[in-house]
Amino acid sequence: DGVRFDVITLFPAIFDGYLTQSLLEKAIKKGLVDIQRHDMRDWAGKAPHRKVDDRPFGGGPGMLLQVDVTVPCVEDVQKMGPSPGKVIMLTPQGKRFDQQMAEEFALCDRLVLMCGRYEGFDQRVTDILQPTEVSIGDFILNGGEVAAMTIVDSVVRLLPGVLGDENSNIDDSFSSGNRLLEFPQYTRPREYRGHQVPEVLLGGNHQAIAKWRSEQSQLRTQQRRSDLLEKQTDLPASQTDDLG
Ligand code: SAM
Repeated sequence: DGVRFDVITLFPAIFDGYLTQSLLEKAIKKGLVDIQRHDMRDWAGKAPHRKVDDRPFGGGPGMLLQVDVTVPCVEDVQKMGPSPGKVIMLTPQGKRFDQQMAEEFALCDRLVLMCGRYEGFDQRVTDILQPTEVSIGDFILNGGEVAAMTIVDSVVRLLPGVLGDENSNIDDSFSSGNRLLEFPQYTRPREYRGHQVPEVLLGGNHQAIAKWRSEQSQLRTQQRRSDLLEKQTDLPASQTDDLG
């Protein structure tokens, strides 16, 4: 069980703080997650330049990561693990990452994450390795590292044993339970500056609470993200039955 992540990057140190904090550190200590970093520069050309990038043919600004560095690097990294794993290339041109994709990735035993830099990878890297191309949204980052961390972060919290309470995932927005936004939540104090906690949550009537939450979840989604409700119609009947 658990997932092994291999992150291929020119800047492995970007992950230093992230891996030694909070949930991630705990998950690693418990052996539920293994994260290996690989410095692409170790596959670079000869010293002293150790080049990994070059100018684009046809001209234009910026540099591209070279195919003869990247492809051997990914292939060697794949050989380092128990299985070749699923190779994911971070690119703004990939399929948009979402919770459903995170749930699919959480079922993999190994994910190899390729972080681009500069103007990205030579097209032949994609043609040869045929990775799953993933984008975290319609905007441009300086490199794939933050995108890779986003994927690791969302996948890790889905792994059994990582969160204190196994049920914390179920109601999360976008999650497999209903794929809607989560209902509003409250904690103590019961009243603050005249703002009260809704009465129904204080009564201990679990059926009433569940009904209220389901209604709130529907309402919020309607108001903020009606696109998610349209998607509901794509779900099999068994999953739409209890949507009320
Ligand atoms: N020239 C590329 C293009 O227009 O498609 C963008 C290159 S971007 C400056 C450098 C690297 O950052 C990319 O190779 C990719 O790894 C990463 N990156 C940037 N935006 C991203 C996004 N939205 N999702 C995933 N990775 C992204």
